[in-house]
Amino acid sequence: MTLTQPIPIVGDTSPEPFRTATVRSTPWAAAQQQLAEAATHLDLSTGQHAMLARPRRELTVSVPLRRDDGSVSVFTGYRVQHNTTRGPAKGGVRFSSHVDLDEVRALAMWMTWKCALVDVPYGGAKGGVTIDPTAYSRSELERVTRRYAHELGDFIGPDRDIPAPDIGTDEQTMAWIMDTVSAGRGATMPGAVTGKPIALGGSLGRADATSLGVTVIALRALAARGRTRGRRTAAVQGFGKVGAGAARLLAESGVDVVAVSDQFGAVHDDRGIDVPALTAHVARAGTVVGFPGAEPIDAGLLLELPVDVLAPCAVEGALHVGNAARVRAGIVVEGANGPTTPEADEILNRNGVLVVPDILANAGGVVVSYFEWAQAQQAYRWDIADVERRLRSRMDESWDSVFGGAERSGRTLRQSAMTVAVERVVDAHRLRGLYP
Ligand code: NAD
Repeated sequence: MTLTQPIPIVGDTSPEPFRTATVRSTPWAAAQQQLAEAATHLDLSTGQHAMLARPRRELTVSVPLRRDDGSVSVFTGYRVQHNTTRGPAKGGVRFSSHVDLDEVRALAMWMTWKCALVDVPYGGAKGGVTIDPTAYSRSELERVTRRYAHELGDFIGPDRDIPAPDIGTDEQTMAWIMDTVSAGRGATMPGAVTGKPIALGGSLGRADATSLGVTVIALRALAARGRTRGRRTAAVQGFGKVGAGAARLLAESGVDVVAVSDQFGAVHDDRGIDVPALTAHVARAGTVVGFPGAEPIDAGLLLELPVDVLAPCAVEGALHVGNAARVRAGIVVEGANGPTTPEADEILNRNGVLVVPDILANAGGVVVSYFEWAQAQQAYRWDIADVERRLRSRMDESWDSVFGGAERSGRTLRQSAMTVAVERVVDAHRLRGLYP
C-alpha cells in the first residue's frame, strides 16, 4: 500500500483521521499504514480492519493547575484506549509539550500490538498531558498528575486500564496516580499502575526492563547478522529511562557504545564511552553535553554513524525520509515507539538495514509491567532472578516467532511482528463475538 492510498472503512461516518490514512507523516498515519499492511497480509475483512483502525474509547480532559505563585494554568490531558479485547487496556502516560491526540492514538494502537505480540493479557492504551515537565516544580507536577488522574476517574483502574511511566513521567508520577485512584475508591490499589516504586509494590527489575529487552533483542539481531564475535559497536539516541539503561546493558554485554545523545546534544568516542561515568555526569549536569570523556558531535550525525546497532530511544520520527538513506548502521533496534516513519522504513529495508520494530524491541517494559500487575493481584513478590529469567524468555520467544515468520514469508521484521500481533487480536475479537 502506498502512502497516498486511503483505507476504505465501510459504514464509518466519523471525520478524519479515522476514515483515511493520508500522506501526513504523523504517528497516527504511520500506525494506520502499518495496520493496513497487516490487514492485507492477513486478508482481513473490511469490517475487521475497521474495528481495529479506530480506538475503542478516547477521553480528553482539562487539567487546571494552581501554580506555586498562586496563578492558574490549564493543560490538556488525554487517555486513549485503543483496544480491550484481550484484557484491560495498558499503556504509559507521557508529559511533554508535544503531546496531542494524534500521537496518543498512535501510541495506544502500538500498545495493543505490543501486548499481543509478547502475549500479555492486555489491550492497548496511552495517555498524556501537554506540558513541559521541566518547567514546573515538583509540587506543581504532583498537582497536575493528581488532577489528571482524578479527571480520568473510572476510565482507569486495575481491571480497566493500567498506566505506566513514559517520556517525562517516572515512578513518583505512578505513586501519585496510584494514591489518587486509591483515595477515590477508598482502598489501596497497587494494581492500578505499574512502574511504581518498589516500596509501593513495584516489581524488582521494572526500572531496567525496557532497556534489558532492547539489549536482549539487539544481541539476537547481531547474532542473526552473524555478528557474535569481534568488535561490535552501538549508537544510542536518547539517554532517559530506556536509552541510558540500554547503553549501560549493551556495554556490559560487550558492545562498545560509541555515541549517545539527548535533547540537548550528542557525544562520541570511537573507543567506546564509559557509560557509568557518563551516567554520573548526567546526574550532575542534567545532559550528556559537556561529558569530559568524549567529544561533542552533532546530534543528527549520531544517526548516521557506521555502527553495528543504532538504537533510537527518544521520540517518534527520528528516522525520516530526510536522513534514512544516510543511516550506515547494519541494524536499527527501536527502543522508542515509532522512531522510524514509514518512508524511512522503506528506505532502510531497501538498503539492507535490519529494522527491529518497536513493538518487539521495547516490549520488555510492558512484559515486566504485566509481572508487576500479576504480583500486585497475588499480593506476592517475585525475586529479581525470577523476573529477569521470565523476561528474557518472553523476549526470546517473541524474537523467535517474529524472526521465524519473517524468514518463512520474506516479510520485514515489522510486517512479521504486526502479522503475529494483529492476528492474535483478531482471533480474540472472533472468539468474543460482536455485542449485541
Ligand atoms: P525519558 O523521558 O526518560 O527519556 C527521553 C530521552 O530522550 C531523554 O534523554 C531526552 O533528552 C531524549 N530526547 C528527547 N528528544 C530528543 C531528540 N530530539 N534527540 C535526542 N534525544 C532526545 O523517556 P523514556 O521513558 O526513556 O522513553 C523514550 C522512548 O521509549 C519513548 O518513545 C517511549 O514511548 C519509549 N518507551 C518507553 C518505555 C519505558 O518503560 N519508559 C517502554 C517502552 C517504550
